Amino acid sequence: MRAAAFELERATMTKDVTRFAPSPTGFLHLGHAFAALFAARAAQDSSGRFLLRIEDIDLTRARGDFEVAIDEDLAWLGLSWERPVRRQSENFADYASALDRLKTQRLIYPCFCTRREIASEIAESVLAPQGPDGPLYPGTCRNRSSMEREERIESGEQHAWRLDVERCTELAGSALTFNESGLGPRGESGAISARPEIFGDVVLARKETPASYHLAVVVDDALQGVTLVTRGNDLFQATHLHRLLQALLDLPVPRYRHHRLITDASGKRLAKRDAATALRALRAEGWTAARVYDELGFTNR
Ligand code: GLU
Repeated sequence: MRAAAFELERATMTKDVTRFAPSPTGFLHLGHAFAALFAARAAQDSSGRFLLRIEDIDLTRARGDFEVAIDEDLAWLGLSWERPVRRQSENFADYASALDRLKTQRLIYPCFCTRREIASEIAESVLAPQGPDGPLYPGTCRNRSSMEREERIESGEQHAWRLDVERCTELAGSALTFNESGLGPRGESGAISARPEIFGDVVLARKETPASYHLAVVVDDALQGVTLVTRGNDLFQATHLHRLLQALLDLPVPRYRHHRLITDASGKRLAKRDAATALRALRAEGWTAARVYDELGFTNR
């Protein structure tokens, strides 16, 4: 009887679409294994779908051999995912059209500042507010005339595109929320009010990378039909901004479940440059996939 009730509950539950979205800029380590298993389990628990997305938008750092290694490592963990896999480098047109939409609404503006100019302006200012990704852009290019902007773009001057966050918040309203069913770094959960202004006028595109992580991720999650975003809580703050972008671009809003980060014995978060916990290094040392599950607190189903 109880089993039948469980089956019924399961059948009426949302079948979640989750994803694991690594950047092929190094070998996967135990932290990635945790994130991948977490996403795959969330899909399995709802009889849903698990997707893989290769976040190779930064063409200067992404490498084909790392992508091959991702495939091998995930298969070794016993995971399977739908194919074809979405690769950001093959979808620049999607990000460009999202950017165009924001341009048409004058929600983004061209910024001609060099990194050095921004740094010196910040160093001189008494009040230099910090955001999750570092000090906020001081707004130098926000109020240039359309004529100046056009002339400088036409003359071929390099520029980035920045979100005019104040204008965007006015348009989208201040009542945006997102649903967090995991735990943010300060224990945040439930319906969270989005505060995209913590990022200031964030860059959405640069000459060398035509879409930032923030822009690409909201476009990809929408196009892939992701209903539950699971990821490390180092990206919890980014969700504030993602929620605003979803509102501006009229995209469906997934639910979020951020998870803990895996640390080493000294409590430091694992990084790609520490080769010691790379899955392939552990494998070479004789670790089995079962041992990885065990180490990370997953039961081997
Ligand atoms: N590519 C990101 C990373 O490797 C993950 C992005 C996401 O899950 O939203 O940290």
